[in-house]
Amino acid sequence: MSAPQSYFVETWGCQMNELDSRYLEGILRARGLRPAAAAEQAELVLLNTCAVRDKAVHKVLSRLGELDRLRRTTGKPSVVGLCGCVAEQEGARLLARSRVLGFVLGPGRIGQLGSALDAAAAGERVTSLGFTGGRDWDSDLIARGAGARQSVTAIHGCNQHCTFCVVPYTRGHEINRSLDDIINEVNDLAKSGVLEITLLGQTVNAYRCPRTGADFANLLEAVCAVEGPWRIQFLTSHPGYFTDTLIRTMAGLPRLGRYLHVPFQAGSDAVLRRMHRGYTRREYVDLVNRVRAALPGITLSTDVIVGFPGESEADFEETLSLVSELRFGQLYGFVYSPRPRTPAARYADRVADEVARERIGRLFALQTEIQLALNQGLIGRRVEVLVDGPAKRGKLVWSGRSDDNRVVNFPAWDGIREGELATLEIAGASAHALFGEPLAAGSAGRPTQA
Ligand code: SAM
Repeated sequence: MSAPQSYFVETWGCQMNELDSRYLEGILRARGLRPAAAAEQAELVLLNTCAVRDKAVHKVLSRLGELDRLRRTTGKPSVVGLCGCVAEQEGARLLARSRVLGFVLGPGRIGQLGSALDAAAAGERVTSLGFTGGRDWDSDLIARGAGARQSVTAIHGCNQHCTFCVVPYTRGHEINRSLDDIINEVNDLAKSGVLEITLLGQTVNAYRCPRTGADFANLLEAVCAVEGPWRIQFLTSHPGYFTDTLIRTMAGLPRLGRYLHVPFQAGSDAVLRRMHRGYTRREYVDLVNRVRAALPGITLSTDVIVGFPGESEADFEETLSLVSELRFGQLYGFVYSPRPRTPAARYADRVADEVARERIGRLFALQTEIQLALNQGLIGRRVEVLVDGPAKRGKLVWSGRSDDNRVVNFPAWDGIREGELATLEIAGASAHALFGEPLAAGSAGRPTQA
């Protein structure tokens, strides 16, 4: 088989998968492949997949079926590679089941894409999984494109072992990058004009430099000392790793975005214990109070799982009461989904689907009410946004995000560009977006404040 000349990468899931996809692209570009506009036009298609919730494997199988039919009718794609968390979890089995699949690479092995392609050209089907010997990661190869927002990995993998979560199995144990490596990457991005940098890790605030022992507060200070970027964000934090020193450090860093994502998952101590989260409801509330006292006006967002095994109506009402009490700016809610190899998948007392769906409907209704009230309270405020591009609604309305990660839509002006900073006055609000009137655009896309 001749080597493919064009590629298309389909990405499902989180920011880490997005970044892994840019790394895969970088490897392909370094081999001279060019991007295709759609999977239908590509000789190589990579599926970079997510396994956090169910239906993932089903979704992959159905996409492989579509690509198989496409190949039989058009001859393209000649090679399909499966990458990401579903590859790690089900790769070998899927390779046996699917004719169109050429190779399988787990998240720890994506640096081996080149040799997998060489093997495919020689008629071999490679499966490379696991994490022994670390993780291949060459940040110089990441094909970042021109975006003004970029992510930088601080920690690969996860050590938490929450009983619901498949991530430690699919992404392996934590590997902390050295502070020097992270800062070099941030420096390069700053020099290229990137305005917002998000540090990534499943439990990013547990960061420890393997060379110097520097902690997450030290990392934030070092990243915020790099000249250029408008804002530094980070994702995802675990409630158990917020020391007073970290909170004090955050409060003293004006370049840090006023946004913090800290999943609480459940409002009931009994459920939190069974989830193996390592904190109580009271400890979580105390954390939020400490953060809000040190960083007034910060927007908090959170993740919540509904219908975890054994969750009673009273347990769920504790989740609702925590949401009412803490009034998050954003909330991501998920119906519990049993994952292979996780302890909770073997727990008795499953919550019936219709009960879980009814509960999540109540959770979303409550959050919508809270978000609407919070957003309406912002009318009249001035905000600076990083412009993302035309909003879905049409070309005349553009969209950006404020430094506390709120979506703001606004009427476009002549010469508007993606990646510039603009000052807006909030003139209207819905539960999920704000509407702003332009006051001034930032000069040539450079930061207008430190
Ligand atoms: N490492 C982060 C943490 O534990 O807080 C985020 C991990 S996960 C990629 C993102 C979110 O998906 C979690 O915070 C959780 O709310 C949700 N999630 C994870 N496993 C789930 C499962 N089995 N069923 C439903 N939601 C799940």
